Amino acid sequence: MSQYWSPAVKALTPYIPGEQPRERIIKLNTNENPYPPAPGVGQALRDYATDHLRLYPDPTSAALRAKLAETYGVENQQVFVGNGSDEVLALAFQAFFCHGAPLDAPSITYSFYPVYANLYNVELRTHPLNAQWEVDLESLGAASARSGVIFANPNAPTGHAHSLEDIETLLKRVTDRVVLVDEAYVDFGAESAIGLIDRYPNLLVTGTFSKSRSLAGLRLGYAIGSVELIDGLHRVKDSFNSYPVDSLASLVGIAALDDKAHFNASRERVVTTRERTRQRLEALGFEVLPSKANFVLAQHPEHAGAQLFAGLRERGVLVRHFNTQELNNFLRITIGTDDEMDSLIEALEAICG
Ligand code: PMP
Repeated sequence: MSQYWSPAVKALTPYIPGEQPRERIIKLNTNENPYPPAPGVGQALRDYATDHLRLYPDPTSAALRAKLAETYGVENQQVFVGNGSDEVLALAFQAFFCHGAPLDAPSITYSFYPVYANLYNVELRTHPLNAQWEVDLESLGAASARSGVIFANPNAPTGHAHSLEDIETLLKRVTDRVVLVDEAYVDFGAESAIGLIDRYPNLLVTGTFSKSRSLAGLRLGYAIGSVELIDGLHRVKDSFNSYPVDSLASLVGIAALDDKAHFNASRERVVTTRERTRQRLEALGFEVLPSKANFVLAQHPEHAGAQLFAGLRERGVLVRHFNTQELNNFLRITIGTDDEMDSLIEALEAICG
């Protein structure tokens, strides 16, 4: 511990990423996509080595932002890109949530929100989920004197997604500060709030290439919102004198966005396998929360989460177990290929007997 570190830095615990696979391990612990990215990504990588690597990136990431704008039906100036949506979220905390009042968030949600809140000295005011494990948007909208509102839709690790109608009701109530909707998992069956940005200048939607576009290794994420909000993000980012993203991320990101057929086929496969997995888990006696994401959260009435986690690990299947009071009995299981999910079910059958 160094005397030079700020209290927030002293309080930080290092993030330990999901375990890396040993040989023949089935990795269902960090919500990656089991299928490869669009085939055009391979060509983009080859072009990159010969034509782009020796040059500095475009400091405005214009081509990538234009492609995202075209994909989501917005203007180029309504798009911001960053190194993974984690970076975009961190910049949003700095740009919008440091007003000296609490930031409203669900009590069970993406684990990085409390980390950023601590780092940027933002008080987090958490709102319990309702009895169906859903984010309580009414409670989030009812609080007063705030710095903003943040939630994931679908939420993680529960997988529940609210309708656009519900989100719009919240936006009608919260007009003074930024409402950030984190749509990391939206492509697996939820509705995107991007269509609302023109009516709600305080709505910021974040997204990622890590899940539905199979590019978690690239580190590419984005935010879409009013020009006012996007300019705010640029102000923070530009003060670091750094490029938005490197030229590799731009080129590969564009290739991924170009292949809509691959994107749709990949996410449909994940959704089909998710529903099949859900039925098979239920047949084994699990309670499975309804999910619109590429994972399910499940618990068994007779087997503790920690025991199931350890039993699966012994059998070469990695899932996610949370050491928190509310989620202690649950497992979060990423949807892999059908074969991987068959192995998961076989292992659970052996454990649950
Ligand atoms: N938001 C949520 C809800 C997530 O679960 C994740 C990844 N686990 C992220 C954002 C960050 O994704 P990335 O940085 O890979 O874009």
